[in-house]
Amino acid sequence: MSERINEQRRRLLSSLAMAAAALPLLRVGTAQAASLPHLTLDDPTAKALHYTENASQLDPKTQPAYKPGADCANCQLYQGDRKAAWGPCAVFPGKDVKASGWCSSHVDMSS
Ligand code: SF4
Repeated sequence: MSERINEQRRRLLSSLAMAAAALPLLRVGTAQAASLPHLTLDDPTAKALHYTENASQLDPKTQPAYKPGADCANCQLYQGDRKAAWGPCAVFPGKDVKASGWCSSHVDMSS
């Protein structure tokens, strides 16, 4: 009987140790997901795609690809939390784009 209890204790302690060891890994994964470098306006691809951090300042007369109301937060290629200020984008791997931004690769959510 005491061998059985000892075995149960050993399993419990082993499980707790593994869970404790995994905690820092979970924290690192969360931090990395939330801390990509911001895409800069002087990035060559950003320039080529007319990326801006403030879509509301675009004028469809001077930027015909822009449709009023379009921004990164309502683009199908945006991969972040749509309520966050910045998030990843499929077009700019390894960078966060501004949710209020826009580029000419914008894909409307209803498309
Ligand atoms: Fe923003 Fe979409 Fe352009 Fe990415 S593809 S920068 S989410 S508009």
